[in-house]
Amino acid sequence: MSNVYDLIILGAGPAGLTAGLYAARGMVKTLILEKEQEGGQIVGTDVLENYPGVPEGTTGPSLIADMTRQAKKFGAEIKSDNIVEVQLEGEEKILRGEDGEYRAKAVIIATGASPRRIGCPGEKEFTGRGVSYCATCDGGFFTDLEVFVVGGGDSAIKEAIYMTKFAKKVTIVHRRQGFRAAKVLLDEAKNNPKIEWKLDTVVEEIRGDMLLESLVLKNTVTGELEEYFPDEEDGTMGVFVFAGSKAQTDLFDGILEMDDRNYLITDENMQTSIEGVYVAGDCRSKAVRQVVTAAADGAIAGVMAEEYIDKMNK
Ligand code: NAP
Repeated sequence: MSNVYDLIILGAGPAGLTAGLYAARGMVKTLILEKEQEGGQIVGTDVLENYPGVPEGTTGPSLIADMTRQAKKFGAEIKSDNIVEVQLEGEEKILRGEDGEYRAKAVIIATGASPRRIGCPGEKEFTGRGVSYCATCDGGFFTDLEVFVVGGGDSAIKEAIYMTKFAKKVTIVHRRQGFRAAKVLLDEAKNNPKIEWKLDTVVEEIRGDMLLESLVLKNTVTGELEEYFPDEEDGTMGVFVFAGSKAQTDLFDGILEMDDRNYLITDENMQTSIEGVYVAGDCRSKAVRQVVTAAADGAIAGVMAEEYIDKMNK
């Protein structure tokens, strides 16, 4: 059967591609399955300046293109399919997708995370028509318009700075006074004349007809509501949401151990509670989610899976 492999990796972001590179280089017959395009969340990043060994910085798409090339160079196969059911117990793991069934001795889960929604009325309706989760993808649509950025973490502050390239004004809306974002990013944003701040504030509702026409903002301390309209000549504005991420682990619900936020639990060797099943990258329960930590997880999982497969073959 052609769909039988030593190792199947779910997800072709930095974790999955690195795991694929290590395993394939170790002569393991490896398939990387991705439901959309390669890359994961990092594809939406325009400037990546903290990946070691690249002092001049790179972009998400460029790093992913190189990682994909490198994994393929060592023989990893990459296929597109959406896996809908998994059977992970036992010596043969079975993954059922919309296009076929795949079998392997070991599995590495590197399914990543997806953007967390604010959850307010209008957010869903205006996604793609004023609400966005990716500044690199959609920033250009808001040239010379006003933009709101929701969140107080590294992503929100970094992307707010990026949006000042296009927008005439960027307002950071954050629900409290303290920030999770690094001081270096906050200092840069504070010194940017195009950035304004609305702290102790949340977006309560997003309103409009065809286009986004106003935002209802709520002060989290006083409870006061304010409806904000764009300048009349603009007619619309943008809302970029960077409210953290949500683990893409629904498929493993009731099968693998998860923490209270649905991130998958492993030991330091990326091993889950099921033998031959490993987890790498942003879908894993851990403190630091960076491209370099995803890649590191991938390397460990790749090596551990290779050792497990060798042991099984003996
Ligand atoms: P994050 O650190 O989890 O921050 C999410 C932000 O959204 C927090 O400020 C949070 O507020 C806010 N938030 C959450 N739910 C909200 C809601 N319903 N309404 C309004 N605000 C809400 O997420 P992140 O910024 O995406 O970063 C994720 C990880 O990637 C972090 O480890 C970060 O360091 C890393 N990262 C690093 C870089 C870099 O350049 N080094 C760039 C991007 C991301 P509270 O603070 O009040 O909870």
